[in-house]
Amino acid sequence: MKKNRITQDNKGEDICRRCSVPVSYSERFDACYCEGCNIWLEEKCVDPLCDCCEARPIRPIKKGRPKPKKKDKPKPIEWDTKK
Ligand SMILES: [Zn+2]
Ligand SMILES: [Zn+2]
Repeated sequence: MKKNRITQDNKGEDICRRCSVPVSYSERFDACYCEGCNIWLEEKCVDPLCDCCEARPIRPIKKGRPKPKKKDKPKPIEWDTKK
């Protein structure tokens, strides 16, 4: 696997080349990724039968969109008719 998006810091730790954050590792997909950039740092392997890469999502971190809250209907103004 190419690891050209990974570089090493001065302690020899693998960090993301783009944002210099230590890489995270996904056991599920057997690949390193960057949490900050939300990208895989390893290319998919060329094995078309590889389960890990086959099932790998485009983005390592699913960002669930929070469902937009339905706005409460504004209450009708109760006019004070008594005077
Ligand atoms: Zn990054
Ligand atoms: Zn693979």
